[in-house]
Order: sequence, then structure tokens, then C-alpha cells
Amino acid sequence: MADEDSLFSRFRLWINEGVGKWITIVVVLALLVVAVWAGVRTLTRKGTPAARRAARRGLTRPYVCKACGATGTMLVPLGGTWPRECPKCHKKEAVEGMRCPKCGAIVERKPPGQTVRCPQCGYTWRVPAPPPGAFEPKLD
Ligand SMILES: [Zn+2]
Ligand SMILES: [Zn+2]
Repeated sequence: MADEDSLFSRFRLWINEGVGKWITIVVVLALLVVAVWAGVRTLTRKGTPAARRAARRGLTRPYVCKACGATGTMLVPLGGTWPRECPKCHKKEAVEGMRCPKCGAIVERKPPGQTVRCPQCGYTWRVPAPPPGAFEPKLD
């Protein structure tokens, strides 16, 4: 125990004078800078860079074209409205779709709570309410 005490007091003497003092200051400052940098990084980071880029560009949504009957997915920009231009017939008749939970076929989107029947497999399901805060393009 006596040895540890003297080691500790020698260390205290060392950090209180000369080179030791400066090394201690530099190490403490470096740790502070790293802590602040890590904190700022955590605060400014939301998701992966790819996810953030995708969120800025919009979201890939299923669509159903009322004019030609085409179904597929298209990129809808943030705040985008329906109907949109159909990629197949280029008429502005593409409405938002949703996927059949059973076979994955894209059917026209119905309001939450409504029962939908899949024209492909005949499965019927009730449209779930979107989770709070979910990105939903306006349907006007
Ligand atoms: Zn079309
Ligand atoms: Zn289906």
C-alpha cells in the first residue's frame, strides 16, 4: 500500500509541474474535442447516407394506372400528389397503389379501415391505418 501511495503522489507531482502538466492539458483537451465531435456527429446523423439521400429524393411507391391498367412502382417526391403521370401511357391517371399482403399484387389504394379484395388471388384484407409520422403523399 505504501508503494502505491508514493506512486500516486509522484504521479500527482508529475502532472502538477513541467512537461507532465502540459501533457495532461493536451490529453484532456483532445478528449474534450473527441467527445464534442462525437456528440455533434450523433446529433446530426439520422439514418445512413443512402437513406437520407432517398428521403430527400422521395419514396418509391406502388401505383395503379386508371387509364391503361399498368401497375408498378415509381419514385414520388416529398409532398408529391396523386394522380401522377403513368410511366407506361404517360397519362396523368396513375393513382397510389398498395400491395396485396398475400400475393404482392398491386391494387389501388383505399382509405384505412376499408376492406380490399385482391383481383389476382381473391384475398380480402382491411387497410391498416398508417403509423403516426409516416410519410404519406397527399391524395388530392
Ligand atoms: Zn397508364
Ligand atoms: Zn393477392
